[in-house]
Amino acid sequence: MSTRSGELVTISKLKLFDKLLSIFRSLRFRVIVLVIAAGVIPALILRAGMIGSYESRAISLRTADVQNQCNILAGLLRDDNYITDPSSETVNAQLNQLAEIYTGRIMVVDSSMKVIQDTFSLDAGRTIVSTEVVRCLKGRSDSEYNRDEGYIEITVPVYNEDGTVITGVILASVSTDSINNTIDIIRNKADIIVISIVAAMIVLAITASFVMARPLRNLENAVEGYTEGYTDQIDGTHGYTETKPVIDNMNKAISTMRKIDDSRQEFVSNVSHELKTPITSMKVLADSLLSQDDVPVELYHEFMVDIAEEVDRENHIINDLLNLVRLDRKAAMDLKSVNINELLEQIMKRLRPIAAARDIELVLESFRPVIAEVDETKLSLAFTNLMENAVKYNKDAGWVHVSLNADHKYFYVKVSDSGIGIPEEDIEHIFDRFYRGDKSHSTEITGTGLGLAITRSAVVLHRGAIKVYSKPQEGTTFTVRIPLTYIA
Ligand code: ADP
Repeated sequence: MSTRSGELVTISKLKLFDKLLSIFRSLRFRVIVLVIAAGVIPALILRAGMIGSYESRAISLRTADVQNQCNILAGLLRDDNYITDPSSETVNAQLNQLAEIYTGRIMVVDSSMKVIQDTFSLDAGRTIVSTEVVRCLKGRSDSEYNRDEGYIEITVPVYNEDGTVITGVILASVSTDSINNTIDIIRNKADIIVISIVAAMIVLAITASFVMARPLRNLENAVEGYTEGYTDQIDGTHGYTETKPVIDNMNKAISTMRKIDDSRQEFVSNVSHELKTPITSMKVLADSLLSQDDVPVELYHEFMVDIAEEVDRENHIINDLLNLVRLDRKAAMDLKSVNINELLEQIMKRLRPIAAARDIELVLESFRPVIAEVDETKLSLAFTNLMENAVKYNKDAGWVHVSLNADHKYFYVKVSDSGIGIPEEDIEHIFDRFYRGDKSHSTEITGTGLGLAITRSAVVLHRGAIKVYSKPQEGTTFTVRIPLTYIA
């Protein structure tokens, strides 16, 4: 039971994870994040920059102000010989006034670092040991801003009458509360601005995400219309500029698939027809023998010869079909180094008796030895078909010339014959499956109409090319170009 509930928890966790992943991957989510980031990050930088620059400007102004006032006071202290006699009411009043204006504390220290005046009346008479005072007694006026404690500390030297000796130091600490208050006000206002920008950006981001996703929704609807069968193409008429090329390409793919489907259907019906024809003939022959009594032996013999021919024809068609299907399935190429000169010679040797029977001359012209990385069985089928056709569609006492040549990349096989040629209107169809040219001769010359389809498939599988040149009544030339090394 516990395992079951454990499994359920894991499954629901996985589902949640999948859902989150799909949200993160969605275009809308990315647009929202992008727009918000584009608005919020600059606003935050601006906020930090504004506050920082106001603070440094306000502190430096306040420091300069207090430093000025302390310098004036230092002049007064010198004129009044205050360090030796700190009893001057006017100077004390000035010191107190300055301390009050800047909500701070002012101390006057003599050269022995003894406090001779403190507006807070806390440390008068005590000795102050601080680096600032020591430095100031050596002639260096200083200022320091303490952000954590919220004050600025300033030291200004007081000289003797002729301005040659430092007799004391004015040490002023002024509060930065008023500056901090202003910073707080600015910070609050900046926060309101940032929050408003974030809110506006969220609204903008959601709107933008909807607007941007709309073409995709349109595309989805259009594709749905097609998949549901309402339209026979994806309707791009109400599409957006961005989705139009996608729809166009999808429609192209649909047309290609449709063509493939049509040609497959046509192929199946052709196959059925071609396979049925010999069977029908055999049935007619057998029936006519069975329907007669006392059939002479000669007639039996004659009909049996016809039946055997039909069986051969059926066999031929089935073999060709199997070869074609094997090539169609793009079966793995059985590649090895093949001596093409020898391959062509072997094919020619097999054809010689058939050619000799019709007094056709077979000539093989090899310009150089050629070794190529090919699938021997497939290529042998291709060249056999070309040479067989050259003999089959030839005139008696004609010739077939086969030549082999190569360069650094390809080898070339040319099969020329002195045969009946191919009418111009047939040329574009001869590589189609089951296409048989010129009906007048196709009855007396046997064939399945699959040979050249097989040849082309084999050549294409080798990334090669095949071309045909022909003149009726003069002859035909097929040229084949195959790479010497297989291009995967
Ligand atoms: P098949 O030879 O079985 O009819 P193919 O696919 O080999 O089928 O050839 C298709 C058609 O192309 C043939 O029917 C024929 O009309 C034409 N053809 C092929 N090769 C030649 C050739 N060398 N000379 C004349 N016609 C040819």
